[in-house]
Amino acid sequence: MTTKSDADETVDVLVAGSAGALAGAYTAAREGLSVAIVEATDQFGGTFAYSGGGGMWYPCNPVLVRAGSDDTIDEALRYYRSVVGDRTPAELQETYVRGGAALIEYLEQDDHFAFKILPWPDYYSSVPGARNDGMRHTVCKGVPDERLGRFQGQVRGPLDHERLGEPQPDFLTGGRAVVGRFLWAMADNPAVTAYLNTSLVELTVEDGRVTGGVVESQGERRTIRARRGVLLAAGGFEQNAEMRAEYGVPGTASGTMGAPGNTGLAHKAAIAAGASTDLMDQAWWSPGLIHPDGRAAFALCFTGGIFVDKAGHRFVNESAAYDRLGRQILSAMRDGTVGTPYWMVYDSRAGEQPPVMATNVSFSPTSEYESAGLWVQADTLEELAVKIGVPEANLVETVCRFNVLAQRGDDEDFGRGRESFDRAFTGGASPLVPIDTPPFRAAAFGTSDLGTKGGLRTDVDARVLDAEDRPIPGLYAAGNTMAAVSGETYPGGGNPIGASLLFSHLAALHMARS
Ligand SMILES: Cc1cc2nc3c(=O)[nH]c(=O)nc-3n(C[C@H](O)[C@H](O)[C@H](O)COP(=O)(O)OP(=O)(O)OC[C@H]3O[C@@H](n4cnc5c(N)ncnc54)[C@H](O)[C@@H]3O)c2cc1C
Repeated sequence: MTTKSDADETVDVLVAGSAGALAGAYTAAREGLSVAIVEATDQFGGTFAYSGGGGMWYPCNPVLVRAGSDDTIDEALRYYRSVVGDRTPAELQETYVRGGAALIEYLEQDDHFAFKILPWPDYYSSVPGARNDGMRHTVCKGVPDERLGRFQGQVRGPLDHERLGEPQPDFLTGGRAVVGRFLWAMADNPAVTAYLNTSLVELTVEDGRVTGGVVESQGERRTIRARRGVLLAAGGFEQNAEMRAEYGVPGTASGTMGAPGNTGLAHKAAIAAGASTDLMDQAWWSPGLIHPDGRAAFALCFTGGIFVDKAGHRFVNESAAYDRLGRQILSAMRDGTVGTPYWMVYDSRAGEQPPVMATNVSFSPTSEYESAGLWVQADTLEELAVKIGVPEANLVETVCRFNVLAQRGDDEDFGRGRESFDRAFTGGASPLVPIDTPPFRAAAFGTSDLGTKGGLRTDVDARVLDAEDRPIPGLYAAGNTMAAVSGETYPGGGNPIGASLLFSHLAALHMARS
């Protein structure tokens, strides 16, 4: 299937990236096309491989239906439209909300895939159509690495391996399982070639059609011609400090959770070929717990504690979903009321660690945070205020007020606990936990992101559009290389991975038809 021509290699489909991109590669191969996958780094999986859950937001998919879910696509659409609004095209939103179920059905026809439910509530619990029982969220079942054949030992992550040097587990779970299952499904297919340490750096264009890509490996460039098209699902540009600055993405490359190869080369190649972009200043946001290496990491599921600003006042609902919370923190940073770091104030009722259920990067020993000045403790709130540099009287007043609200069980100030999502990680109990058990403690936080989400504008077949809304023949995009269908929101866990897989799959189906 793979032939040599004036190019160094000719295939039907060239795919850049190896996370959501794998759904495109797999689909193309299953539809009888030859595929070349290029991955910039020395491992497959990108940011998918960092996700402990690897969740996919696919309402009404067969796994959920079999479990008896009474959800409907109309309700899911109502929710998605209400959250995202008109920021992205309605037809793109509808394609995503409807498409996940069909994708799971397609994959379940192949024994390499197996899914299960991981209940995870929608992130805007009070919006019409929200599903608060978590029944829109599905994950892949785990898979042993040894099943991956020629791809064995080549899946990135997890985070504790890369950041803390923990051993790499040889049973793939979460996002690694998604990646692993796609690689397993393609391992014996001779029509699929895959190159690590190989970046797509340019697109070749003939008579207005994208005909392939120039790829670079160890300083050498070669051309891969793609008869049907090129799929760019190469993540965001969160690791590229210059691009972050150029497009006004807050935060830093060191605080991102995006995979190391996500430097925006695919975005640049597409822009040079005439692609138009949107949402370029956007990312999937979260508060970031600062670890002893100085890097803030995506932290979620807070079961207590309060965030305080420079004045020692609360400023947000600390239990809101991480992207909503991250956006409010960034807004307060822009106003100048919140600095870096800002502090989570908590007490000793549950020990030394801040009340964070999911750190993504595991806690290091307490002494390491203390010696880096990231965690402090004091017998009184006044002393704690001095240590974190906020006015003493204000911190005392803030904590007293919070304790009164906690006793009443209603956060009149920021509504914490009023939405169902706020109680998802406390088993339904109020997240208003009094701060009254000395020694009092504070942990330093910054901002983090899960990757940028601005990119190439596409139609419902994932075809990349030019500035006049015309598809550029032969060019497709998905995942964080595509302008996100969710616009400036994060409607629910499983949106980034779900949309990346789905639009990659749709791109490949379109190429197979064309
Ligand atoms: C801890 C954590 C947990 C998360 N959990 C979830 C979850 O449960 N559900 C969910 O939906 N989302 C989750 N996310 C977000 C999600 O993982 C990312 O948004 C998603 O991985 C983006 O997918 P992608 O396919 O766009 O790219 P990525 O997963 O970022 O992969 C892009 C790949 O492309 C490669 N690449 C880049 N440039 C080039 C190039 N020019 N040529 C060739 N290759 C290139 C990169 O090296 C990388 O391997 C989580 C994120 C984190 C950090």
